[in-house]
Amino acid sequence: MRVSALMLPTLREVPAEAEVISHKLLVRAGMIRKSAAGIYSYLPLGWRVMQKIAAIIREEMDRAGGQELLLPIVQPAELWLESGRWNVYGAELFRLKDRHQRDFCLGPTHEEIITDLVRREVSSYKQLPLLLYQIQSKFRDERRPRFGLMRGREFMMKDLYSFDRDEEGLKRSYQKMYDAYVNVFTRCGLTFRPVEADSGAIGGSATHEFMVLANSGEAEIVYCEECNYAANVERAKNMLAEKETEEFQSLELLYTPDVHTIEQLVDFVNLPAERLLKTLFYDADGKIICAVVRGDREVNEIKLQNLLGCLELKLASDDAIEQLTGSTPGFVGPIGLQGVSVYVDEEVVSVVNGVAGANKVDHHYLNVNYGRDFSATDIVDIRVVRAGDLCPRCGATLNSARGIEVGQIFQLGTKYSKALGANFVDEKGQEQPIVMGCYGIGVGRTMAAAVEQNHDEKGIIWPLAIAPFEVVVVPVSSKEEIQMELANKVYQELKQAGVDVVLDDRDERAGVKFSDADLIGYPYRITIGKKTVSEHTVDLKHRATGEEETISLDNVVEHVIRLVK
Ligand code: ATP
Ligand code: MG
Repeated sequence: MRVSALMLPTLREVPAEAEVISHKLLVRAGMIRKSAAGIYSYLPLGWRVMQKIAAIIREEMDRAGGQELLLPIVQPAELWLESGRWNVYGAELFRLKDRHQRDFCLGPTHEEIITDLVRREVSSYKQLPLLLYQIQSKFRDERRPRFGLMRGREFMMKDLYSFDRDEEGLKRSYQKMYDAYVNVFTRCGLTFRPVEADSGAIGGSATHEFMVLANSGEAEIVYCEECNYAANVERAKNMLAEKETEEFQSLELLYTPDVHTIEQLVDFVNLPAERLLKTLFYDADGKIICAVVRGDREVNEIKLQNLLGCLELKLASDDAIEQLTGSTPGFVGPIGLQGVSVYVDEEVVSVVNGVAGANKVDHHYLNVNYGRDFSATDIVDIRVVRAGDLCPRCGATLNSARGIEVGQIFQLGTKYSKALGANFVDEKGQEQPIVMGCYGIGVGRTMAAAVEQNHDEKGIIWPLAIAPFEVVVVPVSSKEEIQMELANKVYQELKQAGVDVVLDDRDERAGVKFSDADLIGYPYRITIGKKTVSEHTVDLKHRATGEEETISLDNVVEHVIRLVK
């Protein structure tokens, strides 16, 4: 390709609305343009990156036994009513009506469509297992579309669905996908971690998220360097510290005027936050419940919601709290509560002579002890784990990092096959529900994550495997005929050798071409200048390291081929 003929509108200015670096750089490098919130066009160079990522995904899916197909984007409401998701998916589902007023949606994911296909085409165990996938636009009317390609409303996803005879088969398919995902993200040149994740409403079954490590990531993960345990904080556990052995002191009511927060209480009683009890009330689908964690902890609302199995969980209103406790939120505690389920975090059980609200305005209790002074409906794990906690597997200290979720794999089991009646007849002639898994990768989010992880103040530093072009050949002065001729020769030879190369033949100052090359992030830049003509040498710049080598013109093609292949 010749840059003069490319649609490559690079920008000097940073787009005002872009908050994260990948959004800024992808727009500035002329790779994407916005049409509406969360809806983008991919320009030729951006689309090349998308296609390269997609090609890697395809190879790995095929290698794992996947078969590519293409499912419709427009999906009839009937299937979503059958699975039960039409009414629970909520505002994220793009819904539409056809001219006959029939309901449809734009696919945010394809469990319904593919399960419908498979229930009609598969009837015998002999047809299983099956791994079917597609790479296609998905539609989700996200509440907060942002960060460019990171959280769009229309975005590219690879989604694969596995169909097996039994749980063991599912585990095998899951492992194949896990391995394939490791290959995909490794080949894309990313630093990532598979982490245990929350399975949410589907419940129980195993699921992993693949996190690209980056400070701009929306997710927080904890991990252990000793044993490789890694989990999304939504789901992370920790090992309990040893129980204190102090003797119980007698309960004491303390006057604590205007002490509303944990911080104020720490100062007032002069005890560490670990000795305090934090008591919160939630409204779970209309029912009020109480949750107690240690004062230095946050309640993990995802764990709590999974535990309660409710659809909606929010903090209870002050009115509801007052009605139940006779006090205001700053002074509530677990002692003497009646007519409400109390979920006590495991760590609270170990607190000896703690401090808790007294359910009386301006008062707390001192020397509160679980068992003696209050009890629990259930002792549970509802705390947010953080760096410094002990690894649940080996007891070493956990670290934390931020991550971008680029993929997630999921053991679905028979949720959809049972709802839609996707059965097969086994070897004994018995009808069984097909056991399913689903596996997604965000192609655009992977591209954005690659930029988050690989850039400097000048622009993008593409990992070689997903760079829009591997090499740019830059004649310093396009007006100098000999320079252009030599540049063209190098370009042609590289192209013939199968290298992805562009020739920056624009009539621009060298500085403009160099800064564009840095912004766009080609891994290698070959500069043809005066010295090429006089001394027969070229400069080869490595974008990632900034290293510049001077190489003889005769060797450069061979040298670059070796670097690229
Ligand atoms: P998130 O929690 O970030 O909203 P999700 O868990 O809902 O994502 P999945 O349903 O697991 O997403 O989708 C599979 C993959 O699709 C994700 O791992 C992510 O890479 C990508 N993806 C999901 N939502 C978006 C989006 N709005 N924009 C871009 N990519 C997305
Ligand atoms: Mg996910």
